[in-house]
Amino acid sequence: MITTLHTKEELDNYTKKLNPAQTGLVPTMGNLHPGHMTLISKSLENNIATIVTIFVNPKQFGPNEDFDKYPRTLNSDVDLIKETFKEELKSRQIIIFAPKSNTEIYPSGFDTIISVGKKTKILCGANRPGHFDGVTTVVYQLFKLAKAENAYFGQKDFQQVNVISQMIHDLDLNIKITTLPISRDQDGLARSSRNQYLSTEDRNQALILPKTLQSIEDLLKSNSWLKSYIDINKIIEDNFSLKTPHLTWDYIEILDAKTLDQVVSTTSSVVILGALKINGTRLIDNRIVDISYDG
Ligand code: AMP
Repeated sequence: MITTLHTKEELDNYTKKLNPAQTGLVPTMGNLHPGHMTLISKSLENNIATIVTIFVNPKQFGPNEDFDKYPRTLNSDVDLIKETFKEELKSRQIIIFAPKSNTEIYPSGFDTIISVGKKTKILCGANRPGHFDGVTTVVYQLFKLAKAENAYFGQKDFQQVNVISQMIHDLDLNIKITTLPISRDQDGLARSSRNQYLSTEDRNQALILPKTLQSIEDLLKSNSWLKSYIDINKIIEDNFSLKTPHLTWDYIEILDAKTLDQVVSTTSSVVILGALKINGTRLIDNRIVDISYDG
């Protein structure tokens, strides 16, 4: 069964009939692609009911970002879900919650921000001030509306999952998060709704992002952390000096995958994260690599 709801009231009435422990939430901004489908698929596997939210959240966009042009494709999103999960829908419920206006999420006069601390100031947070406050505020509201005990997020937004996990821990929310691997196109670019902004030439240039992260991953896998360090710094320096009028790197960093702090002697896995802008389109990607520190 599949139902599309547009108001908080409709969703409230619907969730009254659901068991939170067997309900999964998949928050999205729509324009769904196979990456989103892996999240929905996992939720369907683990839950009787899955709530997919489709909401382009104004609070997570900066003043000069792409909020206005972000693709809004509700009808084809609904069709894609119906088509992809035809079989599952015989025994499972999918509720698509596509708020008809912002006030369904932020009632008139809404003036609260949920703000996680230091993890939001680095990486994407440093390049997009206020972005993660917008993310945690909307995700908190969605958690409250959906009343689900399970939520599904993509590793593609690694820092986002880390920040949301910190919020869940600190506010003692009864929600279990599952993170799904990055879904990629055949050329290796991580799938993203923003990829459609890229011209063919932009897209070819964009491949420098997965390729650079891959070469760092390869180094880390063939050598210890300490032995790889100099070569990795060289890769990073070479990339940053490659600046063209169309391409600028925001960052390439390697951090402890559990804490998002600097790598230390107890670090067992690292995350290689990168972000760049091509002709104004900002793309992110990451890789997780197990390391054993050899002192
Ligand atoms: P978005 O609609 O871009 O806000 O993404 C909604 C959810 O889908 C987030 O948890 C993302 O991390 C996840 N997601 C987006 N792109 C991918 C991808 N290529 N692979 C896996 N998950 C993804």
